[in-house]
Amino acid sequence: MGQITDSAWIQTVRGLIPAQDLGFCHAHEHLFTSHDHAARIDPALLLDSYECTLAELELFKRAGGRGVVDAQPVGCGRRADLLQRASEASGVHVIASTGFHKLIYYPGDHWLHTASEEVLCELFLTELTEGMFLDGDHAFPRQKSSIRAGVIKAASDSAGITPEYLRLFTAAGLAAKQTGVSVLTHTEKGAGALEQVELLLDLGLAPESIIVSHLDRGLDDFSYHVTVAQTGVYLQYDTIGRPKYHSDREEAEHILRMVEAGFAAQILLGLDSTRARMRSYGGDPGMDHIVVSFIPLLRQVGVGIRDIEQFTVGNPARALSIKKA
Ligand SMILES: [Zn+2]
Repeated sequence: MGQITDSAWIQTVRGLIPAQDLGFCHAHEHLFTSHDHAARIDPALLLDSYECTLAELELFKRAGGRGVVDAQPVGCGRRADLLQRASEASGVHVIASTGFHKLIYYPGDHWLHTASEEVLCELFLTELTEGMFLDGDHAFPRQKSSIRAGVIKAASDSAGITPEYLRLFTAAGLAAKQTGVSVLTHTEKGAGALEQVELLLDLGLAPESIIVSHLDRGLDDFSYHVTVAQTGVYLQYDTIGRPKYHSDREEAEHILRMVEAGFAAQILLGLDSTRARMRSYGGDPGMDHIVVSFIPLLRQVGVGIRDIEQFTVGNPARALSIKKA
């Protein structure tokens, strides 16, 4: 794992910042999603109030939060304009995503299903180097802003890497390789992680440019976590405060085992927030949950303060920094 150097930068919605200025960061959240299609699948996915999301970011900031990755990609209800506005108003750094989500979030006639690998790669590059589009949920995006994305989202589902996902992943991987930004993947309860990593490594990405999310939705198979960690990628643990999967104590004990196995430098934390989990939208437990409740639990089960600082400050700074080609 490389050190954070003076020359490492992270691209936020307010511009480039030195990586060491990022501070306490959740590396997988959703701040705004305005897509009617996704909301029909699950109403909890609708995050459409500027005031509520701003209030949640302020709650996060008061607890000590300084940075958030918004994992909502282009064409899927992302709101680049609101991300920038809320970041400016709250002072919280926001790293926005280009890339793609799992296919269920796009209606059958969506452009993402038919755009070629070249067109997709060009779109992702434009969003990283010039600015994110403000439209694109229905027709192909045209309305470009000057607000840049800083990470590429990529997702697969239980079908595995089908030809359609292969086209999308290839476009994402090539755009990452060209720009030096990292790829943040969605896995289906962890499944598919190794296939995703293998594919991205084959495209020429370094393991430290790959962040695999949701591996902790399943904690039963510890060796699977170890196998994924041995590839050198970052493990984004974001199933915290979600008792339908497991208790926070089980999560904390799992993290302790991963630290003991030598993987503290690869762990990132987050809440993968939805409407149902943001307090300002009437949900629970709120974006301050990791600071207020989960970190004390990590301490209680025996995780050291230095390790916790790595998960929340040092690791995100490295994982999100632009790697020079
Ligand atoms: Zn997510």
